[in-house]
Amino acid sequence: EAKAGGRNTYRFYTEELTRAAQERLALEAALRRALERNELVVHYQPVVSVATGHMIAVEALVRWNHPQEGLVSPLRFVPVAEDTGLIIPLGAWVLRAACRQGRRWLDSGRLLSVAVNLSSRQFADDNLVDMVRETLAETDFPARLLTLELTESTIMTRPDQAIEMLGRLKALGVKLSIDDFGTGYSSLAYLKRFPVDTLKIDRSFVADIVDDEDDRMIVAAVVVMARQLRLNVIAEGVENADQFDYLNRIGCAACQGYLFGKPVPADELPPD
Ligand code: C2E
Ligand code: MG
Ligand code: MG
Ligand code: MG
Repeated sequence: EAKAGGRNTYRFYTEELTRAAQERLALEAALRRALERNELVVHYQPVVSVATGHMIAVEALVRWNHPQEGLVSPLRFVPVAEDTGLIIPLGAWVLRAACRQGRRWLDSGRLLSVAVNLSSRQFADDNLVDMVRETLAETDFPARLLTLELTESTIMTRPDQAIEMLGRLKALGVKLSIDDFGTGYSSLAYLKRFPVDTLKIDRSFVADIVDDEDDRMIVAAVVVMARQLRLNVIAEGVENADQFDYLNRIGCAACQGYLFGKPVPADELPPD
């Protein structure tokens, strides 16, 4: 314990806390400026149909193009944005950028569905449904081509309220998917009641399917369950041919991962 070591330890402890808090404040301020200065960029990663090998969708993934540090991972700044509430304007910015890009692809004859991640704070925001509706209208992007990704833990925090919110989003005509599936605690009873279209199997399970019998069984069970519930399924984090072969063998319909392409700027996306 901090106090057990005497006054000095206590002092160091509070200094540490202060430094962490200061770093966080600095990051928050920098992130706020980044949003104003347009330093955020959206990269897109292919989702591929196992049957045809064609790209059927892309996932929009935000990055921060920091003037000094270069591309900063969302793993570093999305949690801060989430804690400070900045995720609300940031998330709205990403959605608009992704819908605009989706519209550009459509105009150039590419029918790509675009998936956008929503954080739990966005999901709890009263304004979310209006924001999505207005963004679709403003960008003239068809709702049926937009998928909103929510993590399993986001929707399982208050599952009954989540069902209602998911229903309101569905009513806009968008698709919904459960991200990082398998890492949360959905009960089968709830899964049936969530009005979602797709399960994305978390990449931690896919990572070990070649070596780990348990993970193989889990992934196979999710694929079977998704089929029974008439849900689409996407395996995340597919990096090599052995993983792909197994997923193909068990009838997993779609894959996403470095094997098919890393997230890249829109103009570097490979042709379908
Ligand atoms: P996620 O939504 O589960 O996105 C998939 C992550 O896995 C991405 O990381 C992607 O680059 C990475 N990935 C894809 N294929 C592979 C692979 O084969 N191997 C490995 N090792 N990784 C792979 P990224 O872009 O760093 O994003 C991390 C997380 O940050 C996302 O996880 C999502 O939770 C969050 N995030 C990203 N963009 C946004 C956003 O616009 N809004 C919100 N709320 N969260 C976002
Ligand atoms: Mg995602
Ligand atoms: Mg995921
Ligand atoms: Mg993830």
